[in-house]
Amino acid sequence: MLYNKFNHGEHVDWNILTCDGGELESGNYYLTENIILTQNITIGGEVALCLNGYMLAGNGNGAVITVSGGTLNLCDCNSSNNSH
Ligand SMILES: [Zn+2]
Repeated sequence: MLYNKFNHGEHVDWNILTCDGGELESGNYYLTENIILTQNITIGGEVALCLNGYMLAGNGNGAVITVSGGTLNLCDCNSSNNSH
């Protein structure tokens, strides 16, 4: 699973982000709907997250995503490319 910052096309091999909080395993995730988290997401591995034009919102205060010893690559490719 190679992460390409500038072109990940149709999100083949990406996982739809369905969780509403907790620890996220290493991998590539994208949104297919707006998500309101019930608890913060913690990242301990290598995670790529594409907002895909949607919104990831927290439940109020503090950081929505906590990176603890991992790497988060965040992108929103839908803002520059509305083909997917
Ligand atoms: Zn994307």
